[in-house]
Amino acid sequence: MKTLLATASALALLTFSAVEAAEMKTAAANPLLAPWTGPYGGVPAFDKVKVADLQPALEAAMAQQLVAIEQIANDPATPNFANTIAALERSGRALERVSTVYGVYSSTLNDEAVQAVEREIEPKLAAFSDQITQNPKLFERIAKVYDARATSGLTPEQERLTWVYYTNFVRAGAKLDAAAKKRTAEINQELATLFTTFGQNVLKDENEGVIYVDKEADLAGLPQGVRDAMAEGAAGRGQKGKWAIANTRSSIEPFLTYSDNRALREKAWRMFVNRGDNGDATDNNATITRILQLRAERAALLGFPTHAHWRLENTMAKTPERAMELMEAVWTPAVARVKEEVADMQQIADSEKAGIKIEPWDYRYYAEKVRKAKYDLDETEITPYMQLENLREGMFYMAKELFGFHFKPVDAAKVPVYHPDVRVWEVTDPQGALVGLWYFDPYARKGKRSGAWMNAYRNQERFDGDVKTIVSNNSNFVKGKPGEPVLISWEDATTLFHEFGHALHGLSSNVNYPSVSGTSVARDYVEFPSQVLEHWLSTPEILNKYALHYQTGKPIPAALVAKIEAAEKFNEGFKTVEYLSSALIDMKLHLAGNTKIDADKFERETLASMGMPAEIVMRHRTPQFNHVFSGDGYSAGYYSYLWSDTLTADAWEAFTEAGGPWDKAVAKRLRDNVFSVGNTIDPADAYRQFRGRDPGIDALMRKRGFPVPAPKTAAPAATK
Ligand SMILES: [Zn+2]
Repeated sequence: MKTLLATASALALLTFSAVEAAEMKTAAANPLLAPWTGPYGGVPAFDKVKVADLQPALEAAMAQQLVAIEQIANDPATPNFANTIAALERSGRALERVSTVYGVYSSTLNDEAVQAVEREIEPKLAAFSDQITQNPKLFERIAKVYDARATSGLTPEQERLTWVYYTNFVRAGAKLDAAAKKRTAEINQELATLFTTFGQNVLKDENEGVIYVDKEADLAGLPQGVRDAMAEGAAGRGQKGKWAIANTRSSIEPFLTYSDNRALREKAWRMFVNRGDNGDATDNNATITRILQLRAERAALLGFPTHAHWRLENTMAKTPERAMELMEAVWTPAVARVKEEVADMQQIADSEKAGIKIEPWDYRYYAEKVRKAKYDLDETEITPYMQLENLREGMFYMAKELFGFHFKPVDAAKVPVYHPDVRVWEVTDPQGALVGLWYFDPYARKGKRSGAWMNAYRNQERFDGDVKTIVSNNSNFVKGKPGEPVLISWEDATTLFHEFGHALHGLSSNVNYPSVSGTSVARDYVEFPSQVLEHWLSTPEILNKYALHYQTGKPIPAALVAKIEAAEKFNEGFKTVEYLSSALIDMKLHLAGNTKIDADKFERETLASMGMPAEIVMRHRTPQFNHVFSGDGYSAGYYSYLWSDTLTADAWEAFTEAGGPWDKAVAKRLRDNVFSVGNTIDPADAYRQFRGRDPGIDALMRKRGFPVPAPKTAAPAATK
């Protein structure tokens, strides 16, 4: 039931049924509907995908699942776990497979044809989902199993899964009267269309926005790697001999960091921060107003004061108030730190007689100068040691030491991929038994959404046969020249470890049911396993062995590592404020209630009232905030990264208080209680079992170099 529960799963050993007969018939006509075959319990047949098959496959798979749902809902037998919850877990396998392929195309191979499918299918998927959650007979059965859960001999995992189903159905409106159900379904369909519009507009601005540089003199300050990538970018757009500043984060941020050309920095910055906000065909402001109105109306129908209250109900934070309390506790010291950072930068600008006041397009550039002056640390000194492929090997080493996982490349002929840049590894445990597959899609390309992410093509499960997971990591590294090593920044390396943390969370999964497997956990908990693994990048074991100079092969010098460590908390004011301003705006927009919101005005006025430093812009301004407006997933949920980071900082201290980062006992506790349990247990309980107590905010403040507050401050303690 991936569509409802946001999980993936796999083909199971079913008895032959009418549904399967239908499945086999349609599969012959449309290969996307066929069960995955081949090694590793079957793999996605990316070599057989035709975009034209996507929509008919999705529609046929939805129809199949509705047949299965009707069978479950109309089962004459008394409802029990096996014939209701387990039966639901077993339903919709074809749709999960097709959705996986559709998701890959939508996020990494998005072109006009895929966008046309998105526009058609998204409202239909929303309607389909409502058709299931609004099925009264089905909900009645789920409710009966739920009511009897404590006395019907369920395992704790089965009881939790039953709770997950019941809660999700109620949250989707299963208890509403017919009129309210109808309106909820209408809202969901309109939202699905608006989310698609929003995301496609941002992608269009990112794809089409570009600044060409035609004089080499205008590249002053840029490292060779950045110049090469810009030259490749221009050549790829038919402008050989020029240099392109593309309108994506991976292109803009290095430019803002190194370019000596202030006017060009400002121009690039303006292009980037105005994505979706140019008053043209791709302007997202009206879409945002409508999305917010519909969300508020839906929350009211479902009995919640605001969309934020509805969204947070099933998270670890539970209420917007608790999330706000944490954010506000961090906001004030972060803003104070920004003032110090700006003063340092202004001093350098003044000493250079630059005759400027620090503006947002100066921040990254002068921060680099301060870093050099204060810590004698120059990012460009680090980059030659940051070879993508070596760091990937470093991640594998970490996975072996902490989790006992071994990675081995899969012969390209054995497992089809959707793009030649994608590679696949098999993952085994210390006994050589298969754990799962890891797909790696590292490079930016046109039609791939920006940023970095993990997803599961198939979740681990065991209730109907031993199904191994398939996970993928996706990022947007600039490929550079053919045959040359790809060098990445320290920040990108951190992101690499972060996303790999999500992948390990998926790979560690050891549960029975797919809907509670792997990373299918609360939104504000899911970033904890990924963030915690970021810490291993800076361990000497990784740096000395894997951070090797791309020309000399020599490991990164100890003196440079010492400088990196000394500068660890550098620029934390900027990073925290850039992130937290986005998280606060997200939450405040969704607490604002059923009013007609002008996003531009709301953003401007709210930031002013919060005391937003003029030198920083939100990491994601409202008109390009894909987390929040291209789906419901992270709406009123961008705070999750900070919430999870409280756990992360505290969990890292569990290692440093014990034998250090490679302490086997702590690693085992982390794996047993956090990485392997999925959503089979309340996250607050899971954390307490790992740590022996609830987390506090102190470790987070230490990690960011902010003053540790006096006792009694917001912290994600248990509220169960
Ligand atoms: Zn993440």
